[in-house]
Amino acid sequence: MLLVMNKNATTEQIDAIISKIKEQGYTPRPIPGGERVSIGILNNRGPVDGSLFLGMPGVKDAIPVTRPYKLVGREFQHESTLIHVGDATIGDGSMTIIAGPCAVESEEQALTIAKHVQKAGARLFRGGAFKPRTSPYSFQGLGVEGLKILDRVREITGLPIVTEVLDMENFHLVEEYADIIQIGTRNMQNFSLLRKAGASKKPILLKRGLAATVEEWLMAAEYILAEGNSQVILCERGVRTFVNHSRNTLDLSAVPVVRHESHLPIIIDPSHAAGRRDQVIPLSRAAVAVGAHGLMVEVHHEPENALSDGAQSLYPEQFEKMCRQIRMIYNDLQNNGDLN
Ligand code: PEP
Ligand code: MN
Repeated sequence: MLLVMNKNATTEQIDAIISKIKEQGYTPRPIPGGERVSIGILNNRGPVDGSLFLGMPGVKDAIPVTRPYKLVGREFQHESTLIHVGDATIGDGSMTIIAGPCAVESEEQALTIAKHVQKAGARLFRGGAFKPRTSPYSFQGLGVEGLKILDRVREITGLPIVTEVLDMENFHLVEEYADIIQIGTRNMQNFSLLRKAGASKKPILLKRGLAATVEEWLMAAEYILAEGNSQVILCERGVRTFVNHSRNTLDLSAVPVVRHESHLPIIIDPSHAAGRRDQVIPLSRAAVAVGAHGLMVEVHHEPENALSDGAQSLYPEQFEKMCRQIRMIYNDLQNNGDLN
């Protein structure tokens, strides 16, 4: 349940409501708004009796929350969440582009790619130092050395860094270096890792699980918000289906659904959805048109020598072309007032 306070509700009235909620054995979650404060009621097993609060001074309305994801849902918070990182804002209707290699391979490789993608319009740099690979014999990432390279890239280019955390063991290490901590598709329902991310002060990029429904994905985000970190970016990266013409199937319809259901920003990763370079640019164009708040794209200056995901990595010139195309689509929609 969400209790909506009057515009001129006093601090004493708000405190009285908070105490009353606690008396009932529930957890209050005050949500400050531009005009008025709302107070969410959490940890209730069954329906909450709104009449307990409706007669109290300062209370305007008691709205039942129908969705299982409370904190991430728009019922609880109508205004969209904006994530500020470096000079980028994710969620404000602009198209934020995150780009870089699948894995950090060397300082020279990372810097070369970073300079290319920055010039073309990327606002953040991505690169894995710890890689979740299907085979234990594949390149697993440079680990700490990779993080140090990412630090150098940030220092030289000024681009904020997005990098993945694989496990609890290295959480604090990754947290120290990353500007945005990525939780990958395979860890979407690693609940202890989600809780750990919820205790972090850094924004979290939460990828959709390989076979997760939108509801399961939003519930995974709920774990992070429930621990106190409300800076979550959702990332659709394709789901496993019966097709073999692409690595996964990009679920574009998840974008309008998530935008309707949640106040959290949603971006698209066309690279892991496609698994092949020739589909990345068309899917990126579609991502803009469908209303994604941003894109995360894999780019490599020598994809044929890449240690992971070379087949889906764009050449720098292709990335530049992609940026030009999506800017055109974005500007067109924006000028017509079609992006909301
Ligand atoms: C990645 O972004 O490098 C990655 C491993 O992605 P996913 O978790 O979507 O497979
Ligand atoms: Mn990859």
